Amino acid sequence: MGGMRSPMPYREGPLAYEPAIFCRCDRKAPRWISWSDDNPGRRYLRCIAAWTINDCSFYAWFDGEHTPFLKNLLLDLRDAVWNLRNENAQLKQLNLQGTGDVVCNLRRENAHLKQMNEELQRSNEVKEAGMKAKIKELEDKDVALGTMATMLRSGKAVHQLSPNRRYDNLEVLHCVVLFLGGWLWAGRALAPRVVCVL
Ligand SMILES: [Zn+2]
Repeated sequence: MGGMRSPMPYREGPLAYEPAIFCRCDRKAPRWISWSDDNPGRRYLRCIAAWTINDCSFYAWFDGEHTPFLKNLLLDLRDAVWNLRNENAQLKQLNLQGTGDVVCNLRRENAHLKQMNEELQRSNEVKEAGMKAKIKELEDKDVALGTMATMLRSGKAVHQLSPNRRYDNLEVLHCVVLFLGGWLWAGRALAPRVVCVL
C-alpha cells in the first residue's frame, strides 16, 4: 500500500543539504521529512545508520514546529495522497485480475474452438473417405456398363454391318440381275417359236 511512504517527492537528496550536520558517529546526518500525525511536513536529521546495529540514535529537528493550521493542512494533504495511492493500487489489482480473467476465458475458448475444429476435421475426413468409396463404386459401374455397351455394339456389327457380308449381298444381287436379264432375253428370243407351237 502507499501507506507510510512520503506523500510528496523529495526535491533534493537527504545528503544534498549544506552546511553538513554530523551525528555522534561523526558522519553527515541525512535530512528527512516527517509525516507523522504530530509533525507533518517537518524536516529532521537522523544518524545515517538509523535502524541498524550501528545506529548512534542521533535525532534532531531541522525545522521549528508548524502552526496548528499548517499541521492540519499538511495532514489532510498527506491523507488525500495516501488514499488516492491506495485506491490506485486497488484499481490496478482489480484491473490485473480482470485482465487475468479475460485471458483465462480467451484461452479456454480457444482450446474449445481448437477441439471443435479437430472434430470437424476428423468428421470431414470420414465423409471424404465415404465419398471417395462412392465415386469408386460409380466408376466401376460405369466401366462395367461401358464394357457391356461395347460388347452389344460389336455383336450387331458382326451380324449386320460386316463389310464382307455386305459384299456377299451385292454379289448375290448381281447374280439375280444377270439371271433375270438372261431370263427376259431368252423369253423374247423364244416367243415366236412358242406362238408357232401354239
Ligand atoms: Zn550516527
